[in-house]
Amino acid sequence: MNRPGLRVFLLALSALLFVTPAWADARVELTGEAIQGGIIIGTTEPGTKVILDGEPLMVSERGHFLFAFDRDHKGTAHLDVEYPDDERESLSIDVATRDYDVQRIEGVASKYVSPSAEQLAHIARDRELKRTARPTDTAHDWFADEFIWPVTGTITGTFGLQRYFNGEPRRPHYGVDVAAPTGTPVAAPAPGIVRLAEPELYFEGGAIFLDHGHGMISVMMHLSRVDVEVGQQVEQGDIIGAVGATGRVTGPHLDWRMYWRRAHVDPALLVGDMPAPKPLERPTANP
Ligand SMILES: [Zn+2]
Repeated sequence: MNRPGLRVFLLALSALLFVTPAWADARVELTGEAIQGGIIIGTTEPGTKVILDGEPLMVSERGHFLFAFDRDHKGTAHLDVEYPDDERESLSIDVATRDYDVQRIEGVASKYVSPSAEQLAHIARDRELKRTARPTDTAHDWFADEFIWPVTGTITGTFGLQRYFNGEPRRPHYGVDVAAPTGTPVAAPAPGIVRLAEPELYFEGGAIFLDHGHGMISVMMHLSRVDVEVGQQVEQGDIIGAVGATGRVTGPHLDWRMYWRRAHVDPALLVGDMPAPKPLERPTANP
């Protein structure tokens, strides 16, 4: 019988996954980085129960499950697995910490740093819209397929940066910023169901929430155009909108964020290196 043992792929040296000896014969495969912002994709036998820190995880019909660690996750995570034949196993996962750089951004319009009462009302309305658009566990397991970059361009902001706007400390940067001209098409990085499609959120500008299943969503921000509607299902590579400079920005770029349940996770860990930019069109020679 060829039972797959535990295979953990460590994609970075800083990612230390501590495996208890009892886990040596595990019937689960885990892929990903055990670091802050890291996303772990698991594969096991359908019908298996998986529990992370006391909370049950959904296991799909293909046997896929998912968990992830917030930007500021501290300590060790515990995974308990109960197979259909009642065999049980437990795994302790040490989550490595990351150092986040400081990013200072100047020239941000003051309405984004010190909003008025009216603007605060818009922000509160947005918060409610976003809260209700956040899916609970959706049964699809699209998160287990490979992701692609939604746009190609220069990465100008990475996950987790500690931010100052016009010298004032603000929440950390939870996305990856890719600079590209306004109008550049934005593709779905993986299949998903649209949960939010708003042209004008206060900070985010044009924004889309894409539900990849089991509580994982992509958020696309600062769009100049939103081409999808709530409830629509899209395939990987479908054009869902266009890069813009809407909301709190200093120039056109895509901000791609990702959440798993309440955790902010790092989308860049799901995709490979940024593909090389397309060669510039050569001007045609004069006849
Ligand atoms: Zn950003």
